[in-house]
Amino acid sequence: MFIGMDDTDSNERMCTTYLAALIARDLEAAGFGSVSGDLHLIRLNPSIPYKTRGNAALGFEFLPAEDTAEFRNRLISFVSEKIAESAETGCEKTNPGAVFIFEDAGSELKERLDSFFKKAVTDVIEITEAEQIVSAYSIPHLSLKNGRGLIGALAVCGAMMNPGWDCTYEYLAYRDPVRWGDQSVSPRVVDTDSLIAADQATSPGTWDTIDYSEKKYPFPVCVPSSGDPVLFGIRGESPEIVRTAAEMVVSEPVYFSQIFKTNQGTDAHLLPIQSAAEMIPLHSYILEGTVVREVQTNEGGHDILVLADDYENLPECAAFEPTGNFRKIIRKLIPGDKVAVYGSFKNNTLNLEKIEILFLAPDISFENPICPVCQKRMKSAGKGQGFRCRTCKTKSENKAETAAVRKINIGFYEVPPSARRHLSKPLIRMNNHDKSENEE
Ligand SMILES: [Zn+2]
Repeated sequence: MFIGMDDTDSNERMCTTYLAALIARDLEAAGFGSVSGDLHLIRLNPSIPYKTRGNAALGFEFLPAEDTAEFRNRLISFVSEKIAESAETGCEKTNPGAVFIFEDAGSELKERLDSFFKKAVTDVIEITEAEQIVSAYSIPHLSLKNGRGLIGALAVCGAMMNPGWDCTYEYLAYRDPVRWGDQSVSPRVVDTDSLIAADQATSPGTWDTIDYSEKKYPFPVCVPSSGDPVLFGIRGESPEIVRTAAEMVVSEPVYFSQIFKTNQGTDAHLLPIQSAAEMIPLHSYILEGTVVREVQTNEGGHDILVLADDYENLPECAAFEPTGNFRKIIRKLIPGDKVAVYGSFKNNTLNLEKIEILFLAPDISFENPICPVCQKRMKSAGKGQGFRCRTCKTKSENKAETAAVRKINIGFYEVPPSARRHLSKPLIRMNNHDKSENEE
């Protein structure tokens, strides 16, 4: 059977990953059966406005010890009670949901949930659509408050029932519950030097452990600052490598840890499109365009890039202030440059996550010509009269063209780890994939 759950966390406490890992352990300890394979951590459309913190759904496949209706009901009650007592239902945005899908559910549901999973990552799903599915297939479920959590609960089951999507892994170490909460009372104790050593020993197989681009670098981006149960998280390409890195970390006592299979770092939210006309708010895209004007920095410190495709100007592309040095790259673009932009479209702005510079236009400027005889700069001889050297009277018709050296190269650029979306594929992964594709 597949168990999916979503939306049990609040912005400050609890974390659905922790609750899912705990429930998996408790089910086994209570003799209900055993977990089969990986626990799954699925990130949904990052642009959804009513999401809780990370917009994550959690799930796992479970092999029940008995196959009777009575046993199933006891198992469902056990999980539902755990969720109901732990979920942060006091938080306005927290609307927990869980689903229980048994092996006899049929192949039609499997296909339906495959497309539902993809839609939940890239598109906007209404609660009613999730409710229609649980009702049409008589799926046992838990739905608290407005039931929005049913969306993620079904989506993660769709992901587990239809494997084969690009995946990464995250090792999450949790804090002892007595230490949760206000960071000024019980700050996380994780040794930064050990994180750097772990990063250097396992990169490029792991990423986003340390942000070296920060001014206060090296910044341990894998250690959260909120009151939730997570002590640190190591992201990487395989369960083995995240474990290797995590075992090098020196920290306060770890309450327990769990490795999750996840769609983080895969760009699964991005839809490649050909034209800006296809853009719909709350979706994320990859599209190409040509820079049409100098990049401007607005009052908020955000850099605004304006592109055009073959037909029209794109909505403004923004490199936000927290993206730090990424903005310096964006500011080096000039009209005529061709780029592919990667990001989410929201409030009529595409929020840049990555950019690929495809073509650099020559940076031409025009100046009065230099006199070929005495090497001095010529002066204008009057409107429409060309240029003349004051010293030797040599004449010239046109201004001189000079091409400045571009201080930027063709290729990919990304926001720093501390500004990265969970779903964004880090360049370190793209490079590895390119290599393996070339080797084949
Ligand atoms: Zn001269």
